[in-house]
Amino acid sequence: MPELRPTVLVIAGSDSSGGAGLQRDLLALADFNIGAVTAITAVTAQSDQRVQAVLAMPPELVRDQIEMAFQTRTISAVKIGMLGTGDVVEAVADRLRGLKGVPVVLDPVLLASSGATLLDEPGRKALITELFPIATLLTPNLPEAAALLNEAPAGNDRDLVLQAKRLRALGPRAVLMKGGHGTGDASVDVLLTEEDQPHYLRAPRLAVSMRGTGCALATAIAAQLALGRPLLEACSTAKAYVHQSMLGRGRREQSRAGGQPDD
Ligand code: PLP
Repeated sequence: MPELRPTVLVIAGSDSSGGAGLQRDLLALADFNIGAVTAITAVTAQSDQRVQAVLAMPPELVRDQIEMAFQTRTISAVKIGMLGTGDVVEAVADRLRGLKGVPVVLDPVLLASSGATLLDEPGRKALITELFPIATLLTPNLPEAAALLNEAPAGNDRDLVLQAKRLRALGPRAVLMKGGHGTGDASVDVLLTEEDQPHYLRAPRLAVSMRGTGCALATAIAAQLALGRPLLEACSTAKAYVHQSMLGRGRREQSRAGGQPDD
């Protein structure tokens, strides 16, 4: 059967609460009318407040899922989220290493907002040595960038750019530093590409806290890259998409508080 729309391969963990992880990734791909094939790396039992349990999938099973995905569809982009363990990181890197011309968006998921560990220490190291060199784009938030570099989180724009440069020197072709965890009126992300010139992507900071925004952003970028959009455009479209989702959430919270009907 001819393939009518591009497909993204999502390699990620299942979030039973539906707020983040693979479940959020699939919603984002549906929003952009992009097809999905998946490789589940871990199954988590969690609520919006806490992670109760995590079971990492055997690395051979992750490798087989990726293999079957490539046999099922033409893959136009890959999004990597939670990986759980060093063995899974290596299995993913082994399968993707030879891949040519398919953009890979790597969201370095280390911790849940509740503080639970989503990637073990061998995994953190393997992520840097095995997956950074394969990544077209790395999308850390401020705490993740700091943890990956063993440094304190960037406190200002200058430090943000310096950390992006240091991360890029470790292998990924481009780095998008997500400023959502910072302070100030705007949420500013910094995209550092091969030209080494920072591009600033801004959105008004919203007083809304929502889970899964990092997952949604990285997947929306993969969706845009699958459609053939250039990286900067892909990142700004994805940022606008996440901003709109948060605005919608804010409006629903407000209408509930004011007793007005949901939209
Ligand atoms: N669970 C899974 C499976 C995830 O992939 C992620 C983030 O990528 C999280 C939980 C954490 O989401 P949050 O930080 O929004 O709680």
